[in-house]
Amino acid sequence: MSAIYIHIPFCLSKCAYCGFYSIPSQKKKSAFLEALKREIVSRKDYLRGETVSTVYFGGGTPSLLSVEEIDALLDLIRAQFNVEPDPEITLEANPDTLSLDYLKGLGYIGVNRLSIGIQSFFDNDLQYLSRRHDSRHALECVGWAKEAGFENISLDLIYGLPTSDADQWSRNLDLFFGMDVPHLSAYALTLEPNSILTKQIEMGKALPVAEEDVVRDYEILCRKAAENGFLHYEISNFCKPGMHSRHNASYWFGTPYLGLGPSAHSFDGVSRQWNGSSLEEYVEDRSQKSEEKEMLTLEQQYDEYVMLRLRTMWGIDLKYLKREMGERFSEYCERQAQPLIVQGRLSRTREFLYLTDEQMLFADGVAEELFW
Ligand code: SF4
Repeated sequence: MSAIYIHIPFCLSKCAYCGFYSIPSQKKKSAFLEALKREIVSRKDYLRGETVSTVYFGGGTPSLLSVEEIDALLDLIRAQFNVEPDPEITLEANPDTLSLDYLKGLGYIGVNRLSIGIQSFFDNDLQYLSRRHDSRHALECVGWAKEAGFENISLDLIYGLPTSDADQWSRNLDLFFGMDVPHLSAYALTLEPNSILTKQIEMGKALPVAEEDVVRDYEILCRKAAENGFLHYEISNFCKPGMHSRHNASYWFGTPYLGLGPSAHSFDGVSRQWNGSSLEEYVEDRSQKSEEKEMLTLEQQYDEYVMLRLRTMWGIDLKYLKREMGERFSEYCERQAQPLIVQGRLSRTREFLYLTDEQMLFADGVAEELFW
């Protein structure tokens, strides 16, 4: 089993909080698509014939590609890789790029999961984030997605916004849970280094973000998700039973994945590779030459396993650690976990260590204590 991620680096404009690699211009779109096709062909052996179960178009704004362009990429992937008959094919989309016809077209070519960047159903939040859509459009495009036949839909929301109080965040969630959409990705607003928002806050031109608002909204989020029968399966991800993102789960379960496009990362089970974050180099085929590669030591693999699995409801499997990495690692992990269990920062069942809802916001700190 394996996964393919495709990074589409174009956006219509740059959102103030954005930390992703994206360019607010589509001038190089044709050259990019040609380079992407070359990369698909040149890396056809990376997954060593493993069955591809998921394809994920992320970005950037993948919904800036036409249906025909996405179809051509999928055809090439099917021709070069061993894609299973019923793969999960996800496309990230922004409301301002969607129409009913476009969504119907996506369904027709086999895209079967949509991840829509709603972020908020309230205009004051959307303006703070400098999103291009408004609340009316946010609601409208979810209706279109359903009308176009999509059942597997995920919406992104952002919490901890200084423009939103507890009541507004609750109403955001009530709107979401009233829509009968099976998946929610809810992210705390983070101030990325060098983002426009970070600079605006530093200059006193935008409202600052308060840690206590993040914690307050997170508690509301966990409570409402549970009340609505959603599983909290990863720090930022909630779903109806059985509707988790198969693609993202592959990152947490150590499944090999191939990342295509500028800034995309790949993992073949023992080493990690990544393309440079430069569209110019990518279209000139220079990024593959300067592609970086890191062999993971067993200690690094242990750290990575701990960090990724602690973020999920599946937790750290001590039996797996013993079987796959050896007693040295499972015993070390148990030893390090002991004081954290006593402090109530970590929970344990027979073979698993995991974080409860309340502790998940602090996953990074707990993971550091368990690192090699
Ligand atoms: S749409 Fe997404 S990737 Fe593009 S600028 Fe906004 S946050 Fe960044």
